[in-house]
Amino acid sequence: MVRLLLDGMLGSMARKLRMFGFDTLYYNGLDDSSLLDECIKDCRILVTSDEELFHHASKLGLRSILVKGNSIDDMAYVLRSLGIRSIGFDINNARCSLCNSTIRHVSKDSLTLRGLPDGVLERYEDFYICTNCGKVYWEGSHIKRILEFEKGVNSRLADA
Ligand SMILES: [Zn+2]
Repeated sequence: MVRLLLDGMLGSMARKLRMFGFDTLYYNGLDDSSLLDECIKDCRILVTSDEELFHHASKLGLRSILVKGNSIDDMAYVLRSLGIRSIGFDINNARCSLCNSTIRHVSKDSLTLRGLPDGVLERYEDFYICTNCGKVYWEGSHIKRILEFEKGVNSRLADA
């Protein structure tokens, strides 16, 4: 399974990659040499929008992917560069969009579900919790946006 590290400008792409199950580190405010160290130490592919950092990584023999930003085209470009032909959202494989940890199914009467927005517990059956930061996930209205995004990415991948 591919392991990625995104630079501080690519937070929005990092959250999406995590939702689709990619092991994705993302640091905001870490300097370039620390980012590169982290890639080496953890065998991660660097994804960056910083040309200088990209060239620096290449000189060190690190695999890196240069993108323009966080757009859907950029995301498709990254996936294509990794040899990925299509993506499919599956909440059981998703990672926490905040911290990149795995999430697990949690029973509906769990204490950790207290404090969710009104009506959520009544309307949904399946809940998931981040094993690290405790963020709770459910397949609510945002799932439509995720699936639309998935469709957009896959059509770009198919066109290539
Ligand atoms: Zn988390």
